[in-house]
Amino acid sequence: MEQKKFKTEVSELLQLIIHSLYSNKEIFLRELVSNSSDALDKLKYLSLTDEKLKGFSFEPRIDISFAEGEKRTLTIMDNGLGMDHEDLTNNLGTIASSGTKKFLASLTDEQKKDSNLIGQFGVGFYSAFMVAEKVEVLSRKAGQDAAFKWSSTGKGTYTLEEATRDAQGTTIILYLNEEGNEYANRWQIEQLVKKYSDHIAYPIFLSYDQESVDDKKKDKEGNPLKTVEHKVEQINNSSALWRKSKTEITPEEYNEFYKSASYDSQDPLFYVHTKAEGSIEYTTLFYVPEKAPFDMNYADYRPGVKLFVKRVYITDDDKELLPTYLRFVRGIIDSEDLPLNVSREILQQNRVMSAIRNASVKKLLSEFQKISEQNPEMYAKFIEQYNRPLKEGLYSDYANRDALLELVRFKSSSEEGYVSLASYKERMGSEQKSIYYITGGKEATLKASPLLEAYRKKGFEVLVMSDDIDDIVVGSIGTYKELPLKAINKSGAVDDLKGDDEPQEKSKESKKLVKKIKKALGDKVKDVVVSSRLVESPAVVVVDENDPSVQMQQMLKSMGQADFEDAKPILEVNVDDPMVKKIEESEDDAYVADLCSVLLDQALLAEGVMPKDPVAFTKKLHSLLSR
Ligand code: ADP
Repeated sequence: MEQKKFKTEVSELLQLIIHSLYSNKEIFLRELVSNSSDALDKLKYLSLTDEKLKGFSFEPRIDISFAEGEKRTLTIMDNGLGMDHEDLTNNLGTIASSGTKKFLASLTDEQKKDSNLIGQFGVGFYSAFMVAEKVEVLSRKAGQDAAFKWSSTGKGTYTLEEATRDAQGTTIILYLNEEGNEYANRWQIEQLVKKYSDHIAYPIFLSYDQESVDDKKKDKEGNPLKTVEHKVEQINNSSALWRKSKTEITPEEYNEFYKSASYDSQDPLFYVHTKAEGSIEYTTLFYVPEKAPFDMNYADYRPGVKLFVKRVYITDDDKELLPTYLRFVRGIIDSEDLPLNVSREILQQNRVMSAIRNASVKKLLSEFQKISEQNPEMYAKFIEQYNRPLKEGLYSDYANRDALLELVRFKSSSEEGYVSLASYKERMGSEQKSIYYITGGKEATLKASPLLEAYRKKGFEVLVMSDDIDDIVVGSIGTYKELPLKAINKSGAVDDLKGDDEPQEKSKESKKLVKKIKKALGDKVKDVVVSSRLVESPAVVVVDENDPSVQMQQMLKSMGQADFEDAKPILEVNVDDPMVKKIEESEDDAYVADLCSVLLDQALLAEGVMPKDPVAFTKKLHSLLSR
């Protein structure tokens, strides 16, 4: 017998589960049954596809039994794939998923107490320790003779030894603790299985002893004769929910199915159930979680869609089933036309699969659109969670660009909350010919940007693109319904503001002024221009039409792109401003140099960008103020 230590993160996870899922401890049964169901899925799949296991015949089933009395136990048994020595060590001694590890590390103490957060990732097998003081796992892998027994009290170590088991599969024995005693009970088990695991595709049997009293027969003392009958009864429905017609399924059933098939303890935000009949036959049942999956923004996120072929489980680990930007969607795809032994490579090039995928994306996007029109409250929740991935779709899914443009939302200079491009267009006055936006930096900084002044004054709404992804995405939008999108912090949008009432002839004086400032700033700027749009600020920085915004440059640098060449800003100055007037009037070169330098740095500061030399900046500012 070997004794082994849990990896530290397992001990940590165990602590977390025991403390935070306390009020919801009954989910352990759902987790263990779903592990069994996965193991049955896997063996069924291998018996159809694997050289060594081809033709392996078995009747998939899950058996639950319990012992009442002094030493209460609960046993969950399956005849699925089983685990060998290595599997047991790897699966039940570590946390295999790196996403879960990162997630754990990212939690604050406060968050660790939130059971909803914990419920979002697979607590799985370890949840057994909420109700058991000891857990034994007896397992034999299909196609092998050796069996092993894993045993642990969940306190840092586990033991592993050779054992025997009649056939392939896994038996999990829970030695119930005080918290778990109530589960050694027929009614409790039936109720939990109905609640969480009714739609597991395999039959779940419960064995129990039924006492009956026969009045006609008496024992030696003359009392009615008690007989004990051992019964085995199927306690779940075991039909694939998605195969039923929509009218036969209640919202509760949809929601329970979601919770038993995903790692979420909350009801989903909404679901989309589709049966396609025709040249390609398939069923999809998609769910959108109320809260974004915790690993949505990790590169190694766990995909949420399972593929079935004619109700046989194929995989839950294929990131190609839906495009990456829809990675928050959970659910199933069940195809009638794919071959059972479809490999990952084949799947990717398969005509049927790509037809299902394309149709699924269209269906989901049109469903999102419907919700945005019919249920704004739900859509607001949806956007709060999934605006960002949808925006990724704008540059990764050109075919669905138009649909996505209707779905994404932005902040606005004139409206509360999020706005759509469609509503922006509706609010536009007749003289406005473009959609204006400002990018880079935080919402508050952007909304306070001096550049906005003139647009506000003209009654032009400006989209405030404060998501870090906006900067990248907006370039790929280009136009919306033939309206060009223009960045007000780039040079191209400037001309639009010149109304008939404010002709912008460049006077001799302003030409002279521009020359003076250019000379003082030298190669710190690309150009200096007289502004037609500033009202209250002395100057702003903009960038050339094809250059990244100043904030974007800063971000690229902070991401380690050190060799990145700075694109120099263009300084736009307000000739009516007193500070600029001083520059115009002064003959003192040193004074003008200081004024110009501070003018540029404060314009950068207003965009949330640190001056190149903060010490020099404060010194100059000080000397100007004390003058
Ligand atoms: P998860 O199910 O989220 O992967 P668990 O902690 O529940 O995490 O289980 C870890 C792994 O142990 C599973 O992925 C599976 O490989 C293995 N496992 C658990 N239960 C069984 C079982 N009944 N039969 C076969 N393998 C199992």
